[in-house]
Amino acid sequence: MNVDLGDLYQEVIIDHGRHPRNFGELAGATHTAEGFNPLCGDQLTLYVKLADGHIAAIAFQGAGCAISQASASLMTTALKGKHEEEALALFGRVHAMLTEGPNGGVRPAELGKLAVLSGVWEFPMRVKCATLAWHTLRSALEATAEPVSTE
Ligand code: ZN
Repeated sequence: MNVDLGDLYQEVIIDHGRHPRNFGELAGATHTAEGFNPLCGDQLTLYVKLADGHIAAIAFQGAGCAISQASASLMTTALKGKHEEEALALFGRVHAMLTEGPNGGVRPAELGKLAVLSGVWEFPMRVKCATLAWHTLRSALEATAEPVSTE
């Protein structure tokens, strides 16, 4: 049987877009940030609870297209329990996957479930939808007061 990875990836994105994981406000968050992608109208608030440098809990709230919601949902799932430094390293790899595609030197298979977003790089209009949550994460961890905009 020939499994079409594109279809499989799309199903996961639709599932996470419709039923985002870790959705809601996080009580006791130590870091929060807001992100906005004016090109598409996606917006989200990210809540992170750091304990000893590790992400003890992470959640988000927001509204936007399926890609932005799915990316945020997948990100929170991938980051729980990770060290702050690991989270930022992952940001770099996901960002390379989304903006440079196969030329970025990142093998999607090494990114686990986040690989489902690997096809997004072919759609420049969608890249900002997918990177919004990650830019917001970096802003939250670096405790920047300014709201994040992908512009
Ligand atoms: Zn979007």
